[in-house]
Amino acid sequence: MIRVDVTRKSFGTTEVLHGVRFDIQRGETLALLGPSGIGKSTLLRLVAGISKDFEGHIECPDKLAIVFQEPTLLDWRSTLDNILLVHPGLSRDAALAILDKVGLADKTDMYPRQLSLGQQRRLSLARAFAGQPDALIMDEPFVSLDAEMADDMLTLTERLIEETRPATLFVTHSRAEANRLAGRVLTLGGKPATVIADEPAGT
Ligand code: ADP
Ligand code: MG
Repeated sequence: MIRVDVTRKSFGTTEVLHGVRFDIQRGETLALLGPSGIGKSTLLRLVAGISKDFEGHIECPDKLAIVFQEPTLLDWRSTLDNILLVHPGLSRDAALAILDKVGLADKTDMYPRQLSLGQQRRLSLARAFAGQPDALIMDEPFVSLDAEMADDMLTLTERLIEETRPATLFVTHSRAEANRLAGRVLTLGGKPATVIADEPAGT
């Protein structure tokens, strides 16, 4: 499970986060909602352990997968190698199986640049789930996709989460996406940002 208790996070003299607390159980999906610039990505980087510069306490499983806003793929490696290099213990068959699941079975030898944006996003989803993560963090993974592609990605993500059941922290500025994917929605607001609502999805 993920436990977050951020007393304070500042950049220089500017306090960005103040008193942000929540837990996410295994198999639970929490959406973190808030306007652009409020501090969602900053909080996500703390939870992921990318930055340790804050006051408070965070617990997150070691088997963590992160899906960033941009796909962050290895451009000089094939689709298949993009999975295998990140998961050295994974068999070739297992990597092919996950690529099949996201609809990239016929693209295994292609390079990321030869894939459409939608395919690149699906590859980064496949890479995240290939390691059977205990925790999953996603930072606005569906932005700049057209409505149909975003919908496909949401359906695919729902299915992969259902199968793997990690503790999921899903950052978005879309209430609709939050309601669709998450069981619980946490809203950040104010300056510095704090939790202004913690409610079941769909309310
Ligand atoms: P969000 O993801 O909700 O759009 P961010 O977490 O990216 O917001 O940013 C929150 C605030 O922190 C913004 O005002 C941003 O300018 C500031 N910020 C983010 N990263 C840094 C940094 N490395 N140095 C200074 N300020 C930063
Ligand atoms: Mg952000």
